[in-house]
Amino acid sequence: MTARTYDVAVIGAGVFGAWTALHLAKRKQQVVLVEAYGPAHSRASSGGESRIIRMSYGADEIYTRWSHNSLSQWKELFATTGEKLFHQTGVLWLSGGTDSTLKESIANLHRYGVNHKLFQREELQRFYPQVNFDGVSRGLLETESGVLLARRAVACAVDFSLRQGVQLQIAQIAPLLGGKKLESIETAGGEPISAGNFVFACGPWLGKLFPGILGPRIFPTRQEVFFFATPPGDTRFAPPALPTWLFQADEVYGMPDLESRGLKVARDTHGEPVDPGTQSRLASVEGAAWASNFVARRFPALKDAPIVETRVCQYENTSNGDFLIDRHPEFSNVWFAGGGSGHGFKHGPAVGEYTAAMVLGEGTAEPRFSLATKATHQKRTVH
Ligand SMILES: Cc1cc2nc3c(=O)[nH]c(=O)nc-3n(C[C@H](O)[C@H](O)[C@H](O)COP(=O)(O)OP(=O)(O)OC[C@H]3O[C@@H](n4cnc5c(N)ncnc54)[C@H](O)[C@@H]3O)c2cc1C
Repeated sequence: MTARTYDVAVIGAGVFGAWTALHLAKRKQQVVLVEAYGPAHSRASSGGESRIIRMSYGADEIYTRWSHNSLSQWKELFATTGEKLFHQTGVLWLSGGTDSTLKESIANLHRYGVNHKLFQREELQRFYPQVNFDGVSRGLLETESGVLLARRAVACAVDFSLRQGVQLQIAQIAPLLGGKKLESIETAGGEPISAGNFVFACGPWLGKLFPGILGPRIFPTRQEVFFFATPPGDTRFAPPALPTWLFQADEVYGMPDLESRGLKVARDTHGEPVDPGTQSRLASVEGAAWASNFVARRFPALKDAPIVETRVCQYENTSNGDFLIDRHPEFSNVWFAGGGSGHGFKHGPAVGEYTAAMVLGEGTAEPRFSLATKATHQKRTVH
């Protein structure tokens, strides 16, 4: 069979692959986007209903900058396509104990002109009486940040990339064998796809495609998400009364009631190691009990609120939470774009922009994203 030759084949149509394909197409590249199931399908890390976009990242300035850049690009995409997939709920970062992360975040928010307000504990209590702020000292509200409707936002980016000439092919790509320059990849059905460059944006599956190099460096963990019903006629848990929130000391985050789906609650701590292809998507009894207890403590009026929806997904962590965007150590024309580590979604546009530039030899490499910095044991520093 004769293979059609593309400039670039991007494998994986999650948020990283979708935006990489889009940026390559904007740079006049002939791109094929190859995806095993479909854009942001139910098992992909990008397949959730909603993802937070915030700019507070403590001292990790690069993520403040990228998130700021990405929000502009998301808004531009939605304005162009006429989709309403961003909710400007505001994002409230609740600091407990030491304030150093908060102070570093504020310095970077100032640097990039991100609008924010700082609340003392008494003000938090006054503005948000429906929340129990025990253990919280101060709150930092990013007024223009909020929530992306994730899987629909990826579908929107993929649709838009198709309009820019990207070809979408539903096929599973087989793991690579060794070599120096890759001429083509093969689908599970044996069909070759030829390209000048290959970007593997396979999220939590990266370790399966590159078991020797990435098997020990990408750590997929099980993450459960719960939605709680709000009382009838009660608007205290919807925007604008309640913003998106993160309790720093609890390592728990959530969102107000969007599209009447209920209050979203999830733990940011890493769950057990899982296989993204086979892990159960049913939430655990223990997880549900934990979430109900948390909601009863932090949102007392929702003490007996029923769980109305659940999701089970996976983070695709690197050793410290920095992304992995680098060239394969053996193949000169093969790239990795992954390691979103539970915070990657918002950055999709900036990841795509950076990856496209690197593939085309026009970018400056960011050391934090290199393969060399990815250890084989976990010690998370980026949140
Ligand atoms: C519960 C949860 C909450 C999160 N909350 C946030 C948040 O609030 N804010 C935020 O910014 N981020 C958040 N994240 C992180 C974010 O969702 C991820 O970092 C991001 O979606 C990763 O995207 P990706 O494109 O790298 O991977 P994925 O979305 O998993 O995409 C990879 C794609 O590659 C495809 N693929 C894999 N192998 C092959 C193959 N062999 N052939 C063809 N295709 C293949 C897969 O089918 C998949 O579609 C959260 C993640 C989870 C799980």
